[in-house]
Amino acid sequence: MNQLKFCPLFSGSNGNSIFISYKGTRILVDCGCSFKRIRESMESIREDITKLDAIFLTHAHTDHTSALPMMMKHLDVKVCATKGTLIELYPKICDYSDRIFQIDRNQSVGVLDLRIESFAVPHDACHTVGYNLFADEKSVSILTDVGFLADNLYTDVKGKELVFLESNHDLNALENCSYPFHLKQRIRGDGGHLSNENAGKFATHLVNGGTKKIILGHLSGEANTSELAFHTVSDVLKESQIKANKDVALSVSHRGMLGEVVLL
Ligand SMILES: [Zn+2]
Ligand SMILES: [Zn+2]
Repeated sequence: MNQLKFCPLFSGSNGNSIFISYKGTRILVDCGCSFKRIRESMESIREDITKLDAIFLTHAHTDHTSALPMMMKHLDVKVCATKGTLIELYPKICDYSDRIFQIDRNQSVGVLDLRIESFAVPHDACHTVGYNLFADEKSVSILTDVGFLADNLYTDVKGKELVFLESNHDLNALENCSYPFHLKQRIRGDGGHLSNENAGKFATHLVNGGTKKIILGHLSGEANTSELAFHTVSDVLKESQIKANKDVALSVSHRGMLGEVVLL
């Protein structure tokens, strides 16, 4: 069956990993959870962790990479990441250097049946990227850990059928939550995370560019809820006469829970 399968295994500031397969190719984007939990989540969508071909990393922060040393140890899997990400992680995975591949920003690489293209994302980790994945005529984009909506994002992500988009925090909830001041400053700064309001603004651009489905993800634990993210983004879309779940399928990947399986 030539369907692209997409499933956020985990999403949120406490751990991120997305499974994608097409024909005989299986990859993860990020692996920021325990090896055991990734294996169990894959089993629950009837996927075998030992069949993974590659892991693509967006950046080195632990909520995206914590299982990497165990994944490299127990699986015959390749890891692909930018130079800045690999420099940070290399001491933990140097025993597996024959399976480590550096990719540059804006480089396009083929992994069997998938083509994967990285693009620059502003965030406070060296050489952070998002990914576009192409499977024949199908296309998916993954964009999380976004400090601000840099100009390149408007062109790099436009036109993808499915977009996994960060909707990290509500500005008021962030202001009033118990996080220390320096953390609040980091989250709303240019190296931090995308607010629900800005996710709505970007979602409007995506829908106008032809995107059919948007999954909101990487929600903050204290400064957001699934309902708040969904309603804020829906309200911003409505300002441009776009109706959520009529003109675009809109859903939320709940924090710490297995997400939906999307088949394209
Ligand atoms: Zn993150
Ligand atoms: Zn990060």
